[in-house]
Parts: sequence; structure tokens; C-alpha cells
Amino acid sequence: MLKKLATRLFGGGPSGRSEKGFFLIVRCSGCGEEFNLFINKSTNLSQNFDEQGGVTYFLNKEIIGSRCRNLIHVRMEFDGARNLVSREIENGEFIDGD
Ligand SMILES: [Zn+2]
Repeated sequence: MLKKLATRLFGGGPSGRSEKGFFLIVRCSGCGEEFNLFINKSTNLSQNFDEQGGVTYFLNKEIIGSRCRNLIHVRMEFDGARNLVSREIENGEFIDGD
């Protein structure tokens, strides 16, 4: 049930939702628990100033589930238009809709 909903939201179609944020879905590598977090691009991203004076954005997220003590660490980087350019995860894996 939850999976179906997540897929539908990702498959999205034309909506303003993708501009405001996105769903970060990860699975704990310790116990397999899944987390579905909505990341608001306006409020959840931190600013990062590069050497040229431009602004990029990044997100650092630490997630601890209820089933185990594994700490999942997500880091995502975005360009000045808040488009995702890179991402990495420790102690877990990304689950994508596509
Ligand atoms: Zn876990």
C-alpha cells in the first residue's frame, strides 16, 4: 500500500510538487526499514557559497529508525536552481520511483 502511493507520487505527472520538494525514500541497510521523507527545497536545503561567489545548496540528513540503531547518513548536493547534482548515502540505500 505504502509502496503504491510512493510510486504514484514519484510518477507524478505535471504538478508543482516537484518544484517545491521531493520525496527522499531510503532503506536501512541494517534492518531493511524504509523511510519516506518529504524534503522541502525552500526550507530544508542549506546554502553553500562557492569560490566564484555563486550559491549552491546541500542537504545533510541523519535518519535513525525504530527497529535498529543504525544511523543512516544522506548527503545531497544541488545547483543554484536547486536541481539535484549528486547524492550519497551511508548505512542505507536510496529507493527510487524510476
Ligand atoms: Zn535499521
